[in-house]
Amino acid sequence: RVYLVRSAPVSDAEKPVFMLVLRDVSEARRIDRMRSDFVANASHELRTPLASLRGYIETLQGPAKHDVKAQERFLPIMLDQATRMSRLVDDLMSLSRLEAKAHLPPDQTVTLNALLGHVRDSLLPLAEDLEVSIHLFMPEEPVTVNGDKDELVEVFENLIENACKYGSEGGKVEVYLKPLSPSGAEVSVVDHGPGIPSEHVPRLTERFYRVSVADSRSKKGTGLGLAIVKHILTRHRARLSVKSEVGQGTTFTVRF
Ligand code: ADP
Repeated sequence: RVYLVRSAPVSDAEKPVFMLVLRDVSEARRIDRMRSDFVANASHELRTPLASLRGYIETLQGPAKHDVKAQERFLPIMLDQATRMSRLVDDLMSLSRLEAKAHLPPDQTVTLNALLGHVRDSLLPLAEDLEVSIHLFMPEEPVTVNGDKDELVEVFENLIENACKYGSEGGKVEVYLKPLSPSGAEVSVVDHGPGIPSEHVPRLTERFYRVSVADSRSKKGTGLGLAIVKHILTRHRARLSVKSEVGQGTTFTVRF
């Protein structure tokens, strides 16, 4: 953007002074574009299940009003759509909560051994459904980091859930915890699933990005999980790295 600024002359005799101001607004434009893309994506993701839900309600109010078979068939689908919308709204709220406190450093001492055990336990029902076993490999001594417990639970729930969902249906997921010297820790979540083609890997943490290979699209998800993970880890000054080989599996590693 270019601005031409003219000084106000103090007296009639004084000549006005002009000043040319050049301002680089590309970063502001980029952020604006990201915001409007985000709103458009979020609205689109909500609109699809809403439209479908309205369609079913109209059918159940009209032609299928007394059709018990149709009701039995449609109600679980409707519940599914409502659940999908709740998940999306929860994820959107998580993101905006995180954005609001991005500048505050987390201040709890978190013992990763206990936290990972808790996350594994909370994912057991899902793992059982998918016939996946989750194995933890952790040292005896406690490994601690500075962090926010709830947020770190969210990080590892996301990574381990993804490994179960996309990585290893019917297989096993391994989680390794290692202390780093002189301080810090590393957690790796390993699956032996279909892997992620390399062109997708740099985009995994973008909001709403989902890889459409094989049956990954049919799995329930919002495409916001890894965006949330990245936000949390940035606040924790931790790094996320991904190693994946098609046909071999994927490893997500968090380094504190
Ligand atoms: P969601 O799971 O809600 O779709 P995420 O942001 O958690 O969103 O993941 C983005 C995409 O990355 C997923 O849709 C999936 O295609 C891919 N992905 C994530 N983890 C794995 C994994 N362990 N193996 C294969 N693909 C994965």
